[in-house]
Amino acid sequence: MISLFNQLKTKNQYKKYTKLVDKINQLEPEFEVLSDQELRGKTAHFIERLGNGETIDDIKVEAFATVREASKRVLGMRHFDVQLAGGLVLTEGNIAEMATGEGKTLVASLPSYVRALEGKGVHVITVNEYLARRDKENIGQIHEYLGLRVGLNLPMMQADQKQLAYEADITYGVGSEFGFDYLRDNMVKSLADRVQRPYHFAIIDEVDSVLVDEAKTPLIVAGKMPANEDFHRVASMLAKRFKKDADYDFDEETKATSLTDQGIAKVEEAFDVDNLYDLEHQMLYHYVIQAVRAHVMFERDVDYIVKDGKILLVDMFTGRVMEGRTMSDGLHQAIEAKEGLEITDENKTQSQITIQNYFRMYPVLCGMTGTAKTQEKEFREVYGMDVVQIPTNRPKARVDQQDKVFQTSKQKYTAVVKEVAARHAKGQPVLIGTSSILQSDKVAAYLKDAGLSYQLLNAKSVEQENDLISQAGQLNQITIATNMAGRGTDILLGEGVKDAGGLFVLGTEKHESRRVDNQLRGRSGRQGDPGESQFFISLEDDMFRRFAREELEKLRKKISPDGDGQIDQKNVYEFVERTQRIVEGAHFGQREYNLKLDDVINDQRKILFSLRDRVLEKRDLDGLLKEMTDNTIKGSIEKYCPEDAPEESWDVRKAQSQINKCLLNQPSWPRSVDHVRQLEEAVSPERERLFEAIDRSAEDRRFLEGIKGVIQMQIDQQFVRHIESMLRLKEGIGLRSYQQEDPMRIYQREGFELFEYHFREIEKRSVIACTAMIARHQEIQQQGVK
Ligand code: ADP
Repeated sequence: MISLFNQLKTKNQYKKYTKLVDKINQLEPEFEVLSDQELRGKTAHFIERLGNGETIDDIKVEAFATVREASKRVLGMRHFDVQLAGGLVLTEGNIAEMATGEGKTLVASLPSYVRALEGKGVHVITVNEYLARRDKENIGQIHEYLGLRVGLNLPMMQADQKQLAYEADITYGVGSEFGFDYLRDNMVKSLADRVQRPYHFAIIDEVDSVLVDEAKTPLIVAGKMPANEDFHRVASMLAKRFKKDADYDFDEETKATSLTDQGIAKVEEAFDVDNLYDLEHQMLYHYVIQAVRAHVMFERDVDYIVKDGKILLVDMFTGRVMEGRTMSDGLHQAIEAKEGLEITDENKTQSQITIQNYFRMYPVLCGMTGTAKTQEKEFREVYGMDVVQIPTNRPKARVDQQDKVFQTSKQKYTAVVKEVAARHAKGQPVLIGTSSILQSDKVAAYLKDAGLSYQLLNAKSVEQENDLISQAGQLNQITIATNMAGRGTDILLGEGVKDAGGLFVLGTEKHESRRVDNQLRGRSGRQGDPGESQFFISLEDDMFRRFAREELEKLRKKISPDGDGQIDQKNVYEFVERTQRIVEGAHFGQREYNLKLDDVINDQRKILFSLRDRVLEKRDLDGLLKEMTDNTIKGSIEKYCPEDAPEESWDVRKAQSQINKCLLNQPSWPRSVDHVRQLEEAVSPERERLFEAIDRSAEDRRFLEGIKGVIQMQIDQQFVRHIESMLRLKEGIGLRSYQQEDPMRIYQREGFELFEYHFREIEKRSVIACTAMIARHQEIQQQGVK
């Protein structure tokens, strides 16, 4: 229940916008009489005003009036006042919470226009390609009419097509594709191959789906490497026989997996190794852990299906098969081994970023969704966006009924069938929401037994799904869909349906987030339509078993179900709500933790990418090479002759041989060394000679091109190694938390050490390769002189 205080706060928050909406409305008579040409002329006029130092705030009222008028003429749709208010919220970089059917797509036309006037590009992010295309073609007409260029960014596009899409004033596409373009842009060999411009403003539709639900898996660009088949097979055999707690530990909540001493002994025996913890067996340990995960975390026909000898992953939210998606880091191969399939090549991560960190690079970010308020804190803390609730255009007429809670799952489904049959008998359409394909099938089987016919939205293409979902509001329809299927698609009510009570939405399981439940409810009762929603749940549902086992046992003693197994008790409803909140909190904590972990890599990635930029732009490359030379020499001395350690422990020879590789000629090393300064002095003349040679070579364009290639290659190679070692580190810290040190601290500290190591490797390898290049160059020149 929303508290009175919150209601009041929301009302005040909203008032600010209604004043501006009034001003926009006042301009309507004036704008209505403008000719098409005059209306279009507004765009150039606004751009000029911005150029003269006015701000977005100065022009937004007139700009909104312009877009509304254009929309009336082009699409025949006049923005409702609440849509203008939503647009204002977005323009200032916040989240507009608007119910389903309120026309969020049209809302986005406003901020995208205004912020595009700044000339730096606006990205409009949708949850799937279908919607990106639809919105670009539909809403894009308004912008094209007003003289802006609109682009569509799709996967599989050629670089030149993508460049064109990004050059546009407003670019539509799916969030992950923008993220992938960022990663790929930082893998190109030449600046001309880049597709993106610097980030400016992004509007994220279904912002909660994009930033919260899908943020669990990072975006990964990977390359193929042959997998070690034998390792996977043996690891899988072991994992199959392993027992939880005896051989391995697995934490349901964090998914942390580790082996017990007994498990480790078994692995050592199976692979005939002495100590699994030796660095050289790091990979082996990893294979076994992945095999265990494949067995405990992935269930066939829920998380993946097997088809034509291949593993196809299933999207947990839509229940749809994710074509071409594979798990990385050997997990996919572990699942293949588990199912006895042929083992495919492994994907090695070449670059990666989380969706969250990608979008945090935009100077201004905003979004819209039907459900954000329950996640308000997260949006504010992580993205600096406030959530503003926008009232509906017409009063909401949907009735959200109290949950029905049953003792057993069987009683639940029996009641579901009874309810569906009763609704169906009077012609009322029913949409049944489920949490997985498996559950959809189960519901379908029950309905079939009862002789009810239905539409099942399993493993359908996006287009088919949208099509079927849009039919769900017709008289007599029964539709079964996973909770997120066909999002973004309107369910219009068929003739006579209003009299039958509108669409009845029946949820068959509570999701781990109230937000997703609300999304399901929101499929009914759009634009003031009548409708009803209700959840049928049972105490045997997954969520309670997984997250509230003990409390559940206690509760079971206090319940008195009726003849149908229904438990209508206050303490039961409270238990349901409490559990859901606990799970939400745990998930938020997990995302926060992951983000913190990712922050470590994120900073490192930024450093490497900006170094890479400098190299590709050939910005002061000779200076860079000199810097790297000095760092490498200094590093060799520090490593083998540390000033704060006794000289007896120094390895002077090693330091000298490392330094020799960086220089054109061997320095005349002193016979004995008892001070670091002696080494530095000996290096000095050779260092000078090398620097002069670098200066001379730098006048040659081909030489610069050469060092550019060398350094860029080293960066890329070391980045891949670095990502892999960070991954191993992350796995490892779970194991070491028992040492009573904060795992996050270990990760930060050791992550820094790893980064430093790989960064020094880039420098060292670049210097050695470039010095060799200069030496060869000199040789050729000398031969020419002779
Ligand atoms: P949401 O994404 O908020 O659920 P949509 O953007 O799918 O809603 O829009 C719902 C429907 O309402 C669409 O058919 C759209 O064309 C229509 N619509 C939106 N705004 C208006 C408007 N101002 N006037 C008339 N129809 C509108």
